[in-house]
Amino acid sequence: DMYMDRQNSLGRDYSQAADRDRHIAALEKVDAEKLTSGPIIGGKLKAGTNPQPVTNPFDTTQILGHVSEASTADIDAAADAAARAQVAWDRKGGAGRAPVLRAMADALEADMDRLVALLSREAGKTLNDAVAEIREAADFCRYYAMLAERDFGGPTELKGPVGEINQLVLHGRGVFACISPWNFPLAIFTGQIAAALAAGNAVLAKPAEQTPLIAAEAVRLYYKAGLDPNLLALVPGRGETVGAALVSHPGIDGVAFTGGTDTATLINKALAARPGAIIPFIAETGGLNGMFVDTTALKEQIIDDVILSAFGSSGQRCSALRLLYVPHDAADALIEGLKGALAAQVVGDPTDPATDIGPVIDADARAALDAHLKRLEGDAKIIARADLPAGADKGWLFAPTIAEIPTPDYLEREVFGPILHVCRYEPSKLKETASKLAARGYGLTLGVHSRIEAFAAEVTRLVPAGNVYINRSIIGAVVGVQPFGGEGLSGTGPKAGGPYSLIRYASEKAISNNI
Ligand code: NAP
Repeated sequence: DMYMDRQNSLGRDYSQAADRDRHIAALEKVDAEKLTSGPIIGGKLKAGTNPQPVTNPFDTTQILGHVSEASTADIDAAADAAARAQVAWDRKGGAGRAPVLRAMADALEADMDRLVALLSREAGKTLNDAVAEIREAADFCRYYAMLAERDFGGPTELKGPVGEINQLVLHGRGVFACISPWNFPLAIFTGQIAAALAAGNAVLAKPAEQTPLIAAEAVRLYYKAGLDPNLLALVPGRGETVGAALVSHPGIDGVAFTGGTDTATLINKALAARPGAIIPFIAETGGLNGMFVDTTALKEQIIDDVILSAFGSSGQRCSALRLLYVPHDAADALIEGLKGALAAQVVGDPTDPATDIGPVIDADARAALDAHLKRLEGDAKIIARADLPAGADKGWLFAPTIAEIPTPDYLEREVFGPILHVCRYEPSKLKETASKLAARGYGLTLGVHSRIEAFAAEVTRLVPAGNVYINRSIIGAVVGVQPFGGEGLSGTGPKAGGPYSLIRYASEKAISNNI
């Protein structure tokens, strides 16, 4: 049984000296290396154009390596090689493809310490977040291997008239462009590729500008796992140039995208303008995620879950909690509790096992948060800000913040980072309050804390969301357990890590044979 046999990847325990020592050794090694990323085509790193340094978001004086951009000629060459290799890969069927994906999962786990060091240095991930991300990447590979075997194992016989054979066959669409964000630079990058490959496609992958080193590492691991290098090319570069060239390229048969809602809209327009083609588009985008609490909920549990949901990964998760709705009668006590819990969070160097909250990704991210903070200081109320360590100004640390907003419709769009907005509501006006959130059009994650089932059911009915979490945190969806993805402005689906994940990456062919 596919639901019983699956097993999720195992982690690390940094309270143990052995795990800590391995971490420090891996960090020293990554720091000493001169890492390079750039176009990787047919398994070979090309010179590319416009080389840029890649820096550590916690300490921008540290240069981790360099990345160059894919040129138009690189994209042409990658698309050609991919189209040729895809035919044989598709014919292998799910059982022929699954072993490579399982080998990739093993390769990720075997390199865990190195990947943790890279994620922590390049993307500012805390150690626990980095480990969770590597495990998720491995989980995607194993889960999609299983789906490949299940869904691409040969024709499904359909019942029809006597004397006629009717079959339904799934096959790859061709070459997919996979475009990913920096906030899960390994899990989403690897997962999109794994899904496209599992369904019988070849891939041109464009990582986010901020995280090209970990992407190059993942591509090399795919090759190490036995993937024909022509099936997977890395095409790094700026979204507005390289990303735009990729989605407009006539050799691309489908696009899988994870990132901001505005970018998804731009790509959708570019795809619509492609002459002579209707291109499937899979988009996982942003959210304006709320949690509703009532007076029956347990205060301590709410506080733990809120702090983790709003500030884990520096709030740089698409699933992160942005809006906490608390009933008037419980608000003061809850706000006091949140203040205390925020003060206990350790903000600082993400490579230190003691750190809970690391930096935000870059200057633009910090500037956007600073600007939002200014607005909050003007017309909302700052409840608490966490302390920053000495020397915080060498990178992009932003003091995690809790603010109380004056009206339920104060927040119009996603603010990506460690700012939690608290909104008091009158229980008799739950419907009105929830409808204001719903009217924003997002639909990613939603939380409820209550011991009354009818309350949870009502909130779930009122606020659109792809993932609803009741009496727990709203982050950290596990592959195969909480299939992840939103609706409305938050995404087109299908969900990542769910039983229907591969269908949109494939074409269906019905063959009716009147023997
Ligand atoms: P982003 O700015 O939309 O970028 C995502 C990717 O798209 C990057 O690789 C980017 O390249 C590329 N891109 C930008 N413009 C493009 C264009 N015109 N054509 C083709 N590609 C283009 O998002 P981000 O800042 O990296 O990530 C944060 C956002 O992702 C948040 O909104 C978050 O909620 C969302 N997210 C959603 C999920 C989910 O599963 N729903 C998961 C994680 C993150 P550059 O790097 O060069 O800009």
